[in-house]
Amino acid sequence: MNDMLRITTPAAMQELGLVWRREGLTVGLVPTMGYWHEGHLSLMRWARENCDVLVASVFVNPTQFGPGEDLENYPSDLERDSGLARECGVDALFTPVRDEMYAPDHGTWVTVPDLTANLCGRSRPVHFRGVATVVCKLFNLVQPTFAVFGQKDWQQLAVIRKMTRELDIPVRVEGRPIVREADGLAMSSRNVYLTDEERAVAPHIRKGLLLLESLVRSGEADADRLREAVMKYFEANIPMGRLDYLELVDPDTIETVGQVRGDVLAAVAMRLGKARLIDNMHIPFER
Ligand code: AMP
Repeated sequence: MNDMLRITTPAAMQELGLVWRREGLTVGLVPTMGYWHEGHLSLMRWARENCDVLVASVFVNPTQFGPGEDLENYPSDLERDSGLARECGVDALFTPVRDEMYAPDHGTWVTVPDLTANLCGRSRPVHFRGVATVVCKLFNLVQPTFAVFGQKDWQQLAVIRKMTRELDIPVRVEGRPIVREADGLAMSSRNVYLTDEERAVAPHIRKGLLLLESLVRSGEADADRLREAVMKYFEANIPMGRLDYLELVDPDTIETVGQVRGDVLAAVAMRLGKARLIDNMHIPFER
């Protein structure tokens, strides 16, 4: 395709999606909330290599924000995102407005309770219901062959995989690795909320996870002892951080594990000033 299409209504998006599907084209979708960084771009570059038509969406989905969260302040720069989309070879940029995605009487929800009782689902009760619902809507509007998500939001990826499988949605779900700043901080649109002082200590979140990994590798298998060691590290190095959770979970079921006896996911969420930052590390089991 030549110039990038900008699609602003769900109806126009679905009309095009159905045309592409009838033509037998491979359509890749990268859903985002905008304010792009290298993490987003890595998903788009990967998708670009693997599809005929690349669609990226920018939609700050209100239903995945709880009361008191940062919905109204969520950073945005659509002009910049649009330029980056062109550079990445996006064919269609889908930027719906809130009122067209959700009618005032919207009342249908997709929930995946099994995977959302822990981690971010515990701290943000309506979050994954909003995510699953909007992703389901995006799949129906864009009709993609595959959609790409980042492993930074590991629990989100697990929820979307389960939803897609269990609702027989004909979309392949692809997960891609976390992209980090040079000092190890996981890239996030929310990193702009950090003051210089907070930004300086934020890489210790990743370092705490690396410490946990090294303890696992040296034979420590007890989750409580592992958590205590990392919490101590956080208290010493990120004194102004307020830990939301630090958990060792089964990477597939997202259930807390007491002993490391297989692959585990170490997941952390921390409030630092105005930001709530998340990170995780998948630790494959080694005998
Ligand atoms: P967001 O705009 O934050 O909703 O993110 C859109 C997509 O980009 C999601 O699939 C995220 O998991 C992914 N993503 C966000 N940050 C990163 C990162 N640092 N590395 C890889 N993927 C990311």
